[in-house]
Amino acid sequence: MDPHYPPEAERFRKEVKAFLDDHLPAGWQGIGALDPDAARRFTADWRNTLYQEGLLAPSWPKEYGGAGLSPLEQVVAAEEFYRAGVPTGGPNDDFSIQMVGNTILHWGTEEQKRYFLPRALSGEHVWCQGYSEPNAGSDLANLATRAELDGDEWVINGQKIWTSMAHVANWIFVLARTDPEATKHKGITFFLVPMDQPGVEVRPIKMMTGWSEFNETFFTDARTPKDHVVGAVNAGWSVAMTLLGYERGEAAATFPIMFRTELDRLLDLARSTGAAGDPLIRQRLAWCYSKVEIMRFLGMRTLTKFLAGGEPGPAESSFKLYWSEYHKVVTELAVDILGAAAMAPSGRVATAFRADDVGAPNDSASWATTFLMSRAGTIYAGSSQVQRNIVAEMVLGLPKEPAVASQKGSWRQAQAG
Ligand SMILES: Cc1cc2nc3c(=O)[nH]c(=O)nc-3n(C[C@H](O)[C@H](O)[C@H](O)COP(=O)(O)OP(=O)(O)OC[C@H]3O[C@@H](n4cnc5c(N)ncnc54)[C@H](O)[C@@H]3O)c2cc1C
Repeated sequence: MDPHYPPEAERFRKEVKAFLDDHLPAGWQGIGALDPDAARRFTADWRNTLYQEGLLAPSWPKEYGGAGLSPLEQVVAAEEFYRAGVPTGGPNDDFSIQMVGNTILHWGTEEQKRYFLPRALSGEHVWCQGYSEPNAGSDLANLATRAELDGDEWVINGQKIWTSMAHVANWIFVLARTDPEATKHKGITFFLVPMDQPGVEVRPIKMMTGWSEFNETFFTDARTPKDHVVGAVNAGWSVAMTLLGYERGEAAATFPIMFRTELDRLLDLARSTGAAGDPLIRQRLAWCYSKVEIMRFLGMRTLTKFLAGGEPGPAESSFKLYWSEYHKVVTELAVDILGAAAMAPSGRVATAFRADDVGAPNDSASWATTFLMSRAGTIYAGSSQVQRNIVAEMVLGLPKEPAVASQKGSWRQAQAG
C-alpha cells in the first residue's frame, strides 16, 4: 500500500521545493552538517526568513501573521522542510507557536490574539511551559501553584519544574489554582505571565547528557494583568488539555520521515562497522524498519483525521506511545552496533532533541547523546504508562483505573488526605 496525496498537494509541494531552492545556500546538506555554532546562527537567520515570508505559523490566518495555508498545505510544507533538513522555527517555537499560539488562536479573545500572536512570531515574546510541579506531573490536576486577584492583577505563588528552555524565555504560560475549595480538575486557571519581573526566578537543572535544557521556575508574588487569562477563570483544565493535544498530535507528518532518515543513517553505520553481517543485528534492523513503516501508516491515519477537520484527541496518544518506545529500541541498537565506541563517544554530539538533524555525521557522540535523550521521549508530554491509560480508557473504553485521591472532595481535602 502506498498512499498518495491529492494532486493539489503535489502542486503545492513543488512550490515549497522551489522556495527552499531559492532560499537555502548552495550545496546545502542539512542543518546537521553544520557545526553547532554555525547551526545556531543559521537557525536564527532562517527563522527570520520564515517570519518575513509568513511561514513560521503557516496555518494561522494572515491577519495574525500566518500564511493562511490549508491543513494539507501545512503538512506538505512540514514534510519538505524536514526532508531538506531545515528547521521550521527557533528553539522555543514549539512553545511559542505550536502550543500557546495555537491555544490562544483556539480559546483567546480577539484582543489576546491581536496582542500575543504577532509578538510570538516576531520573537519579541519567547515562551515556555509552566505545567509540571514537584507533586504534579502525570497527575497534573494535583498542581498547587496558586493565583489570587489583587485589584487589576493576579498574584502568583508556587513552583514549576522541568520548564524546558525557561532560561531563554521571557513569557511563561502557567496553570495555577484559583479556587482551592473546588474539586481537583476545577478551580484551575490558564495564565499568560511575563517572566521579566522580580517575582520569577529560573534555576537550571543539569541533565544526564550534561546539558541544562530545563529548569525549576519559582513564583514569589509574581504579577500578571487581570486579562491575561486564556478561557474562563477556573476553567483552565479544558484549555490545558487543548494545548496538550497540540503537543501530542502534530508530529504525525514529520516523525515517520525523521525516523526513516535516522534509520538509514544507522544502516550506513552498520555497514561501515561490519555489524550488518551479524544475523542478530540484521534481525533487529529489520524489526526497526518494519516499525518505521507501521509508524508511517499510523501517521497517515492521524493526518487523515486532521485533514478531515478532526481535532487532536486521546487517539493521538497511541502515536506518541509508538514513536517514543520505538526510539528507545533503535538507539539501544545503535549503541550495541558501536560497542565500546559508545562508552567513549567522540566527534560531534547530537544537535537535535529527538533523532539527530538531517546531514549529521555518523559519529559515536551523536548516537550516544541521542540514546540518552531518547529516554526522555517516554516521559515528556505524558509518560508511556499514562498514554496507555489514556488509550485504554478513552479510546478502547476499558474500565478506569482506581483513583488515588478522592475526585469528589475539594482539592484541599485531597491534599490533606
Ligand atoms: C525532557 C523533558 C522536558 C519537559 N519539559 C517540560 C516543560 O517544558 N514544562 C512542563 O510543565 N513540564 C515539562 N516536563 C515534565 C513532564 O511533563 C513530566 O515529567 C511528566 O508529565 C511526568 O511527570 P513526573 O516527572 O512528575 O513523573 P510522575 O508523574 O511522578 O511519574 C513517575 C512514574 O510513575 C508513572 N505513573 C504516574 N501516574 C501513573 C498512573 N496513573 N498509572 C501508571 N503509571 C503512572 C509514570 O509513568 C512514571 O513512570 C518535561 C519532561 C521531560 C522529561
